Amino acid sequence: HEIQELMELDKKHFLHPTSPVQQQQQDGPGFIFTKGEGVFLEDIQGRRVIDGMSSLWNVNIGHGREEMGEVAKEQMSTLAFSSCFATYSNEPAIRLAAKLAEVAPGHLSATFFTSGGSESNDTAYKLARHYWILKGQPEKKKIVTRTKSYHGVAMGATSATGLKPFRDFTNSLAPDFHYVDHFSPDALREFIETEGADSIAAFVAEPVQGAGGVHIAPETYFKEVRAICDQYDILFITDEVITGFGRTGTYFGIEHYGVVPDMMCFAKGVTSGYAQLGGVMISDQVHQAFKDHSTGTLLHGYTYSGHATACRVALKNLEIIEREQLIDNAKEMGEELLAGFQKLQSKHNLIGEVRALGLMGAVEIVKDQQTNERFATPLAPLVVTEAAKRGLVLRSVVFDGQDTLVFAPPLTINKEEIEQMMTILSETFSAIVPSEKT
Ligand code: PLP
Repeated sequence: HEIQELMELDKKHFLHPTSPVQQQQQDGPGFIFTKGEGVFLEDIQGRRVIDGMSSLWNVNIGHGREEMGEVAKEQMSTLAFSSCFATYSNEPAIRLAAKLAEVAPGHLSATFFTSGGSESNDTAYKLARHYWILKGQPEKKKIVTRTKSYHGVAMGATSATGLKPFRDFTNSLAPDFHYVDHFSPDALREFIETEGADSIAAFVAEPVQGAGGVHIAPETYFKEVRAICDQYDILFITDEVITGFGRTGTYFGIEHYGVVPDMMCFAKGVTSGYAQLGGVMISDQVHQAFKDHSTGTLLHGYTYSGHATACRVALKNLEIIEREQLIDNAKEMGEELLAGFQKLQSKHNLIGEVRALGLMGAVEIVKDQQTNERFATPLAPLVVTEAAKRGLVLRSVVFDGQDTLVFAPPLTINKEEIEQMMTILSETFSAIVPSEKT
């Protein structure tokens, strides 16, 4: 009775984010989750599923951590929130900014806080452009991003997103955003040469493209990008919203490539979803420009920038990641995940390329393993539906003719749980197309 009531209320009153509206109207919510424990989620009907996506690539420490609830309660009961505008501050925000400076690569040493990834991206574009205004080059305003990128849904972040369906959702975008091929440093160089470096503020990239289908850059890509940005005096911004805080087996994704950006956006894993928080880290050099040239007010700030409870929760989350060595676990279990995919590939004709960096992985679905031919209608969404019925939550990516399954389980996952994931996947594939190799 209660379930039925919730289903009806959901249909009537809840417009879901990134949702198939008609299907939701017809079927109601697929799962109403009530509980989480480690890599598992449980719904109102008592169904238990593996959260193979860490929900939205973010619950890095896993679900149901009591100590997170305890620090949130303690902070909320003492000082839930106070403004950080102007010269006001609070201890959790100060300590988190200092902690981030300690763990971030290179000279990224100061943080502007937001409430999530989209706000972080919009903030980075504004700060980058403001930097050039302060440096006396206000014509440097173009933001260059990549064709398969996803940077969020605020107006700037939507405009920066390379994946076209997200931009086509609306009919007017922010100006001065441009897209170059996702893995070609030459494409970036050509764009700069054509447009003129004096019109370009920044180049933005995800260290591993997530929502676009977990695309891992060639080993030399970011070194070349860094060199091009240096050569043409363009700021290099990384969007570590997914790749930050251990996801790929290093603290930040860009560490795999041995370069340091001028600014870095983060969110998601900074709190593992136990509170809403994001931010932008800036380099000493960018910070210095603000210190030297800002004569007025830095006119950019969210009510919740430096939210005391969210920052306190983030500090505890980072403590857990370090205490339980979850970054090392992500690296080790990432290798297990990839090995699991490879085993599945040898068993199922449907599986084409497989890839993973730490616990960020993808499987391509193909009609023919030899020719890489695709199905006319992507199968990945059906795999997601069928896997969910069998106890595994994952996600499909079908942009640009892709037919891809993506994975990002909590960093706490163990070998046995990965095996469980693979068993469910194998059963799902066999149920969809009984094409097991013998
Ligand atoms: N940037 C990247 C790389 C993301 O993957 C996402 C969300 O998935 C965002 C930005 C947007 O973050 P949020 O949904 O917290 O606004």
